[in-house]
Amino acid sequence: MTNYSGSKCPSCQGTFFETVVESPTNSNYKLQFVRCSSCKTVIGVLEYFNVGALVEKILLKLGIN
Ligand SMILES: [Zn+2]
Repeated sequence: MTNYSGSKCPSCQGTFFETVVESPTNSNYKLQFVRCSSCKTVIGVLEYFNVGALVEKILLKLGIN
């Protein structure tokens, strides 16, 4: 992912990030980790299922804008 915001890895100061799907021990759900492309330090965790996109689909089906 190209980074235009100036975000930096807290570990190596790298400026490239990637996401990977993981199933951590004791987690019932897959999670999407955002991590530094060079040193693999995890910066953030997202839900694997994109809740925002799901809600949008439901709203469209219900005819709500
Ligand atoms: Zn890094």
